[in-house]
Amino acid sequence: MKVVLATNNSHKVKEIREILGDKLGETLTLKEAGVFSDPEENGADFTQNALIKARAVCRLTSLPALSDDSGLCVDALGGAPGIYSSRYSGGDSCDNIALLLDNLNKAEEAGNPDRTAHFSCAVALVFPDGREITAEGRTYGYITRSSFGNGGFGYDPVFYSSELGKTFAAASEEEKNSVSHRSRALRALEAKL
Ligand code: IMP
Repeated sequence: MKVVLATNNSHKVKEIREILGDKLGETLTLKEAGVFSDPEENGADFTQNALIKARAVCRLTSLPALSDDSGLCVDALGGAPGIYSSRYSGGDSCDNIALLLDNLNKAEEAGNPDRTAHFSCAVALVFPDGREITAEGRTYGYITRSSFGNGGFGYDPVFYSSELGKTFAAASEEEKNSVSHRSRALRALEAKL
């Protein structure tokens, strides 16, 4: 089976391929499938946004499409940035991290020193015959006061994984994939297939 990875994020493509191996068959990037897709992610949660992305690519390619919608949910910020993780500051990853640390400092000054957080990931696999399978995964930890490590992407430098005892950016790819929200969502998807 050929499956198109419905994402423009090269970091996600790399992680999904490492996690899945050939379990779902051959995976194609959007470029390899010869399509461009960037639909408006106006769903109310991760699963709805994952479905929007996978449906759009399945429609364009007439092939099964696999998407990932994910984000960081910080307890002291009421679950923010959540589904707005990639566009939290309106800038790049560094700006997102700076705004997150700033908002956590303000929460602490206001009397809430809690730094617990989790990453959440929803994956959706949409088939040309209309079948749709979704699954979710989470991983827990807390937000550090500054960045540690050079690996990963997005919020990885400030997400300290309780299970690994280090930030995701300081972990090896194998270590991150062994506990990540993305690997848990993909394992749950495999179990449903
Ligand atoms: P999406 O492309 O709309 O799903 O946005 C995902 C955003 O959530 C990314 O741009 C990152 O900011 C954040 N994110 C999701 N997964 C991870 C991860 O594994 N590490 C770090 N940041 C992540």
